[in-house]
Amino acid sequence: MPTLAARLTGLQHTITQSRKHPLACTGDAQLIAVSKQQPDALIDAALQAGQRVFGENRVQEAQQRWAQRRLLYPDLELHLIGPLQSNKAAEAVALFDVIHTIDRPKIAHAVDHAIREQQKPVRCFIQVNTGEEPQKAGVLPDALDDFVALCRTETQLEIVGLMCIPPVGAPPALHFLLLRQIAACYQFSGLSMGMSDDYDTALRCGATHVRIGSRLFGSRSG
Ligand SMILES: *Cc1c(COP(=O)(O)O)cnc(C)c1O
Repeated sequence: MPTLAARLTGLQHTITQSRKHPLACTGDAQLIAVSKQQPDALIDAALQAGQRVFGENRVQEAQQRWAQRRLLYPDLELHLIGPLQSNKAAEAVALFDVIHTIDRPKIAHAVDHAIREQQKPVRCFIQVNTGEEPQKAGVLPDALDDFVALCRTETQLEIVGLMCIPPVGAPPALHFLLLRQIAACYQFSGLSMGMSDDYDTALRCGATHVRIGSRLFGSRSG
């Protein structure tokens, strides 16, 4: 079993290599190390190996893990990649630098309000439900036009891109390329797509941010 540092190097290598693909993004995609449910020892090993960009899917869990470490590592960058409730918007804005899961007017307004109140810049991605799955978070493709218009006219949110999670069992490339096409319509340059099982496909479809948990840290249930 390679060490965490070796796995990190391997992932970075894959990211750099995938730039050769004609559809890959022009710069290196950003590796978001998804630290949810991982033990402290592995988080600290990742920090020691130089990783500074981490993703979490729950506000409270992230506060426990990162509030202190934030002070030790001023160059840390924290990404919220899980669904957000509007009553947690202020806490999320206080802790995170990037929120990937803006997906409805109430959340857009709550995050916008918190950003203005705290005067803290937070970059945002809109999550798109590319598979149109009823149980899944994200804006439906048909509703995106109105939602982008709302974000642009009723808020000052800095929308940097789109995020998706393909349906289980579906060919991920279809969803990644659909997200890419949609993003181009709105001139969004950020594409948050790809997890442990499909990040290499995502990179070859133009991902600018890959969110990788188990392939870096090991399985969460184990
Ligand atoms: C947990 C999670 C990931 C990381 O998943 P792995 O399969 O462990 O890489 C990525 N994105 C989101 C939205 C997640 O919730």
